[in-house]
Amino acid sequence: MEPVTLPILKSFLNADALARWLADAYALADVRCQLIKGTIRDVYRVTTSADSFVLMIYPTERSFLATFRPTVEVGRVIDLWADQTAELGERWRWVQVFENRGEAMGASNPHPHGQIWAGAALPVEAAREDASQRRHVSVAGTSLLLDYVRQETGGPRVVVENDDWQVVVPFWAIWPFETLIVPTSPVGRLPDLDRGQRRSLAAVLVELLGRCDRLFDTPFPYSMGWHQAPFDGDRHDHWQLHAHVYPPLLRSATVRKFMVGYELLSERQRDITPEDAAERLRAVRAGGERAAP
Ligand SMILES: [Zn+2]
Repeated sequence: MEPVTLPILKSFLNADALARWLADAYALADVRCQLIKGTIRDVYRVTTSADSFVLMIYPTERSFLATFRPTVEVGRVIDLWADQTAELGERWRWVQVFENRGEAMGASNPHPHGQIWAGAALPVEAAREDASQRRHVSVAGTSLLLDYVRQETGGPRVVVENDDWQVVVPFWAIWPFETLIVPTSPVGRLPDLDRGQRRSLAAVLVELLGRCDRLFDTPFPYSMGWHQAPFDGDRHDHWQLHAHVYPPLLRSATVRKFMVGYELLSERQRDITPEDAAERLRAVRAGGERAAP
């Protein structure tokens, strides 16, 4: 069954209003919206009659993840991601956790929110990563992404790392300050993270996103999301949980990278090297003013 394209939500008034708006705006039949009380203020889960899609949003009073600073608050968000992933995974094959921040990345709703879309199909990107990781294990006998983490450890493309996590500007990055967040030990999905890994992930996210905000002294726009093993009954030992952070800014708070011309028609190109990007992110203090040059 094909996944239904779902909208960017315009209203978080209440569950009924949200369901009505979805049904009207997208001609969806039998939209059911449920308010789930969680550790974040409100969590809505929307299920469509197509039976192939669930959308969950979690609005908050304050700016979402990027401006949550205390790690305990980010920790609650991580717990929510994990809990909802486990629950949605009982019914859906692919659970996509993500957040869009800023108009530059298409976040038309200024009210901060994150989303989880879950569906029966394995999306193109997920299928490609599934095949690559499976192939690497069959050839090398080791995890593709854990091998990559080992290759990058202590190197010039690393932005943040601790015992549990590595944040790196991957050599294949397309966006100027694109990063990849990977646990340093085998983890298939968000619910598999233990308490210590969640705590250290919260610290890593606060540090990374703080550095990004201070890079151009602006709330850094981005699209960030997690890739995790599909839920389809098969073994997915080859899968390694990871997050992609795609920010569009290039030279300042207002100068962004555009994918046009040669890049769009022929081949992607970088404007700065991954090593330069990582160095610049490392050179910014995470929690305060910029570091001295
Ligand atoms: Zn991925």
